Amino acid sequence: MSTPRVFHNLIGGEFVPAQSGKTFERRNPADTRDVVGIFADSDERDVHAAVEAAKAAFPQWSKVPAPKRGEILLRAAELLHARKEQYSRDLTREMGKPLFEAGGDIVEAIGMAQYAGSEGRRMHGVTTPSELPNKFQMSIRQPIGVVGLITPWNFPMAIASWKMLPAIVCGNTVVIKPGEDASVSTYNLVQCLMEAGLPPGVVNIVTGYGPRAGQPLVEHPDVPVISFTGSTETGRLVYELGARRIKRVSLEMGGKNPLIVMPDADLDLALDGVLWAAFGTTGQRCTATSRLIVHRAVAKELVERIVARAQSLRVGNGLDPATEMGPLVNEKQLQRVLNYIDIGKQEGATLLCGGYRLTGGDYDYGYFIAPTVFTNVTPQMRIAREEIFGPVLSVIEVDSLDEAVAIANDVAYGLSSAIYTRDINAAFRAMQALQAGIVYINAPTIGAEIHLPFGGVKATGNGHREAGPTMLDVFSEWKSVYIDYSGALQRAQIDNAD
Ligand code: NDP
Repeated sequence: MSTPRVFHNLIGGEFVPAQSGKTFERRNPADTRDVVGIFADSDERDVHAAVEAAKAAFPQWSKVPAPKRGEILLRAAELLHARKEQYSRDLTREMGKPLFEAGGDIVEAIGMAQYAGSEGRRMHGVTTPSELPNKFQMSIRQPIGVVGLITPWNFPMAIASWKMLPAIVCGNTVVIKPGEDASVSTYNLVQCLMEAGLPPGVVNIVTGYGPRAGQPLVEHPDVPVISFTGSTETGRLVYELGARRIKRVSLEMGGKNPLIVMPDADLDLALDGVLWAAFGTTGQRCTATSRLIVHRAVAKELVERIVARAQSLRVGNGLDPATEMGPLVNEKQLQRVLNYIDIGKQEGATLLCGGYRLTGGDYDYGYFIAPTVFTNVTPQMRIAREEIFGPVLSVIEVDSLDEAVAIANDVAYGLSSAIYTRDINAAFRAMQALQAGIVYINAPTIGAEIHLPFGGVKATGNGHREAGPTMLDVFSEWKSVYIDYSGALQRAQIDNAD
């Protein structure tokens, strides 16, 4: 194994160690003999230094014309494209997903760099006619200031790009605290931005653990915007801390996503969709399918076929091109998923396949688990209600579309959802009735594209949508401007009354 890379914090364009001098190491979850990197174990002091650097960079960066800001992003997209293979390997090593999926993470960042970069030439405001003569009015978007970003480990390049690139094209400066399990990809993204011409201090990176390095960012009085993706538990805390300081807090949290299969569905298509959405990224996606809600008429056949395919999935080190499913991200996540499997058994669900840690040979060096399917799951069971974040599928049988939708909606979360049917009326009824930020028809619950709003309802989000045109609303402030060229005092509403 090669000597591990050392990653210092990036503050004001300089790479500096944590002020405490402390570090932590990250090991490859597929092979814990492989040290991926040594990182700064930051605390409040490092966060404060990063915020000062971002504040210092803000006046100049916010005055750079938006199309010029966008050009830097477009150049960064080209650099990311050229380095896709290397960055995919880095990403696989740090969080475990197979190379072909890691490549998807980089592709999302390229897409976001292009989309946000070209937004620099749009950033449309609104102009409307006035009620009064000789008066003009419009609204413009303005940068806000220092934006704090807190990201998870499951899409370490994509989620960082979804937040950082719109934030900077809007003219803000950024401090990012990446998930401690996957920080390398954030450095790779920022490296491309710096080479593309991003001035020092516009993006600052502080690595470390959530409570020590993330929370001071949320609490900092000079960071008016926080964008967070992660668990609902942490998101709630971030929201509370932000509310006390009247911050804008954009939250993207957990999911318990349903995939409905009706009796008239193309079962081959549904089968492929379920396998990809339940076991892709080892089930560690906020949009993963964790509940299969299937009509009784086709349940037996579909479930038998899912189990056969799940049992033959090649689980292993994501760096091996033959691997279809990688490890879980860390020991804690492994224990959490195994614990939920125990809960499912105790609740009386039937374990059809998987349910155990994979061991022997190279498996002994990683956090591998067999793809797991439970049947005879009732909607009240914890495995049908709580986010597991692992390769565990709970199958619930139903007798009608109405019952399927009611069960789909009867959880705390509302991120993604899917229905497989060839009945156009059923598809549209479900599209309207499903309580979720995203609905797929004849496609699995994963596969969001960056140019549509992304986010969820209920305990998944708090009303913001990152990605798509709505991303600008998170990272910019509206200003309405009225220009009266009548040369006289015109009293709005009052003069207008008759
Ligand atoms: P967390 O919510 O704990 O972490 C998300 C981010 O928040 C990380 O950067 C984390 O840092 C940071 N953080 C943790 N505590 C604080 C705090 N007090 N103040 C500020 N920031 C904080 O998720 P985990 O990574 O621990 O994963 C646990 C569960 O979260 C999963 O099992 C899954 O259910 C859910 N999850 C959902 C995701 C989604 O996309 N919706 C993504 C990832 C997880 P650090 O990494 O150092 O803890």
